Amino acid sequence: MIELKGVSKNFGPLEVLRDVSLTVAAGEVVVVIGPSGSGKSTLLRTINGLETIRAGEITVDGISVHSSPHNLHKARQLTGMVFQQFNLFNHKNVIDNITMGPIHVQGMARTDAEAAARQLLQRVGLPEKASAFPSRLSGGQQQRVAIARALAMRPKVMLFDEPTSALDPEMIAEVLDVMKGLAGDGMTMIVVTHEMGFAREVADRVIFMDEGLIVEEAVPADFFTAPKNERTKLFLSKVL
Ligand code: ADP
Ligand code: MG
Repeated sequence: MIELKGVSKNFGPLEVLRDVSLTVAAGEVVVVIGPSGSGKSTLLRTINGLETIRAGEITVDGISVHSSPHNLHKARQLTGMVFQQFNLFNHKNVIDNITMGPIHVQGMARTDAEAAARQLLQRVGLPEKASAFPSRLSGGQQQRVAIARALAMRPKVMLFDEPTSALDPEMIAEVLDVMKGLAGDGMTMIVVTHEMGFAREVADRVIFMDEGLIVEEAVPADFFTAPKNERTKLFLSKVL
């Protein structure tokens, strides 16, 4: 579903991704961990075309993301992204936040978009919040609306960039539970997170990045109990 081949990315002289190759199968959940500045966000942003790449190729569902504006547009439709900051439109209520993309980008009829949005609100556990404004919701609720909004575009892939890092501790579980549900439903997901419990429980594979490189990649049982690389061991010794 997602393939990166020899992807390199620079910001000026800074090499942020260095010859990164990665394959994610349909339905797979890959958790990416690593120190701040290692290139995790940039990795996600190149996959959905928010950042260009210097070398290599990225395909999502067979579409070469960076090969043309047309493909970039198509690939964006396939990829939902959820950010640390929820990025909801604060002057629009929940249902409008969720239906805007489907109506204005995908040309869906409003009644269909609203029906789909109500189902999604059910799925993220917020059926009663359709007409609430974001400012009246908790952080955890806002993030669940952000997930519903991404899902409303019917993506084949979901990318999560530290989705619980801005949340108070008591709200983290409600967001992780929605993500677990999505994983259980077979969504293809790449999740950047510091939630090691989620990684152990939900990931099919864990990837450790450092300085723009994929340093280590393993199933969670091996990754957490028998990391091979010294940099992985050092990182885990700090976070576990
Ligand atoms: P992570 O998500 O792992 O913390 P990022 O992908 O955000 O890392 O950043 C990787 C490196 O690229 C960092 O050194 C960061 O400062 C740099 N960087 C990220 N975005 C930009 C940008 N738009 N312009 C210049 N440098 C950037
Ligand atoms: Mg980041």
